[in-house]
Amino acid sequence: MSKKRTMIIIEPDGRIHKEAFMTAPMVCPYCNGRGGFPIDTPNGSDIETCPDCQGSGEVVAMVVIDWKPNTKLK
Ligand SMILES: [Zn+2]
Repeated sequence: MSKKRTMIIIEPDGRIHKEAFMTAPMVCPYCNGRGGFPIDTPNGSDIETCPDCQGSGEVVAMVVIDWKPNTKLK
């Protein structure tokens, strides 16, 4: 199966600060994009909302880069 890759090149630019990147939405691997799971209840069948994507069927990843001074002693 083909996979799309996102590459983040990490290099300081200007003043250092905290940066955050949000990936493009990807299909939720837990529910396979269905957004939930069929369950049997006393009142018949129902759909239980996927806890990972909260029913959206997609997930995104936030990547935070927190620049710090290099204070390690030599
Ligand atoms: Zn899901």
